[in-house]
Amino acid sequence: MEKIRIALDGPSGAGKSSLAKAIAKNMGIVYVDTGALYRSIGLYVNRQGIDPHSPEAVAACLPDIALSLAFNEQGQRVILNGEDVSDKIRTPEMSMYASAVSAIPAVRAFLLETQRAITRTSSVIMDGRDIGTVIIPDAEVKIFLVASPEARAKRRYAELLAKGETCTYEEVLSDMIQRDKNDSGRAIAPAIPAEDAVFLDNSDLTFDETVEAALAMIREKTEG
Ligand code: C5P
Repeated sequence: MEKIRIALDGPSGAGKSSLAKAIAKNMGIVYVDTGALYRSIGLYVNRQGIDPHSPEAVAACLPDIALSLAFNEQGQRVILNGEDVSDKIRTPEMSMYASAVSAIPAVRAFLLETQRAITRTSSVIMDGRDIGTVIIPDAEVKIFLVASPEARAKRRYAELLAKGETCTYEEVLSDMIQRDKNDSGRAIAPAIPAEDAVFLDNSDLTFDETVEAALAMIREKTEG
């Protein structure tokens, strides 16, 4: 198989990571979750007691951060200064920290090469916000996955409950709307679709139907 790079972008909670995992497994390619990188910077900033909204303070701490991605049977692990933080970054608090630091240009510049490097050596499906527009502008396939805020909040809420987090649906929905606003309204790398992206709205699709629809889009792009 020729090398293939699939960019999967879209708002928070649209189901990008579950979809990307299923496609990676089906096609035997690597799944890269770029949100984990922003979350890890959020975690570092949080631990240092730094204001995540301060571009100066966050930029100043970047030289102290070494971030890398590793891939094993469990999928992607993210290593922050030698510590595997893959599980610690999955909290609502880190979602907000990630959203805040991701609006800082120095943070995006800092993470650019880490993301691009993987695409040079492996076939990937990479999920994020600016993969099709900034990270892999010449990706073979670009999918923009969307769903209504309510459909996304419902799924995220069920995930958090299953993990034992205590929160309400209303909190999850309002966080979701707030993050949408941060992510699509920001000046740098807003979460907007690339001109050549294909839209996939899964508000009314089951997970299996979403996977099928995405695979059909990939086939059409690569075989057509
Ligand atoms: O995808 P995930 O929810 O893990 O991303 C966390 C936050 O990181 C998002 O709300 C978004 O602000 C930011 N992000 C980004 N660009 C990416 C991936 C994530 O700005 N490529």
